[in-house]
Amino acid sequence: MQTNFTLAQLGDSAVAESEKILRSCVHCGFCLATCPTYVLLGDELDSPRGRIYQIKDMLERDRPAPDSVVRHIDRCLTCLACMTTCPSGVDYMHLVDHARAHVERTHTRVWHDRALRALLAFVLPYRGRFRLALMGAWLARPLASILPARLRAMLSLAPARIARPSPVDRPQVIPAEGPRRKRVALLNGCAQPVLAPQINEATVRLLTRHGVEVVVAKGAGCCGALTHHLGKEAAAHRSVVANVAAWSAELAEQGGAGLDAVIVNTSGCGTTVKDYGFLLRD
Ligand code: SF4
Ligand code: SF4
Repeated sequence: MQTNFTLAQLGDSAVAESEKILRSCVHCGFCLATCPTYVLLGDELDSPRGRIYQIKDMLERDRPAPDSVVRHIDRCLTCLACMTTCPSGVDYMHLVDHARAHVERTHTRVWHDRALRALLAFVLPYRGRFRLALMGAWLARPLASILPARLRAMLSLAPARIARPSPVDRPQVIPAEGPRRKRVALLNGCAQPVLAPQINEATVRLLTRHGVEVVVAKGAGCCGALTHHLGKEAAAHRSVVANVAAWSAELAEQGGAGLDAVIVNTSGCGTTVKDYGFLLRD
């Protein structure tokens, strides 16, 4: 894809990175069939190729993102299915990340949108707050019919029963059964331990039975994906730095051989953690 950035624009490393990505797209459209929003809505603007065009236009003009573009970027699920079919290896993930950060910086959303996004960023990455919010949702259920449609939809997603906090999600070292073969850090995450604590419990059982000592590092928490996908770069960066610091402290144990791996059992968090090198590039 041809691009028309000025030299001054390319002085910004994020723009230079996006320009490289844009230039690798050959407009073939193979990605369209794998994009759930395109399959559902049938609108090119809600396809990966359509979004790539709109992001290119938005970044080249270097103006506040218009409502129409924001709508189509917001509808992207970040499922990255498009990347699996792209023959040209277009790095859509980093392009849409940059676009979201640009939208967050330059676009003024309507007040209720801003309030909802601020609430999500304040609540979801923190287990305690998320648990309280789910309890609030449970209490608010009888009032659902008089609430605005978006809040009603969110209430309908809240589980009917909220599980107790699991003991495996506290900072600790869980010893291996039998001789220790490996030592790993487990990313316990933020929303998953509240919604489905049995996943981390099963992971710990599996690992310890196979001779793996599991460390739940003090200070580690949300991987940062939730705020990152809201375009809130500073908040995401804080989560990334906190996790790296927590795992680095464990790594420094035993003469620098304190960890063999970091285990992530949530696909979205895994994608983000694998991208920490890129997120911390500056
Ligand atoms: S990441 Fe976005 S553009 Fe790509 S397939 Fe998923 S919804 Fe479509
Ligand atoms: S498949 Fe890849 S190269 Fe083809 S239009 Fe989609 S993003 Fe561009």
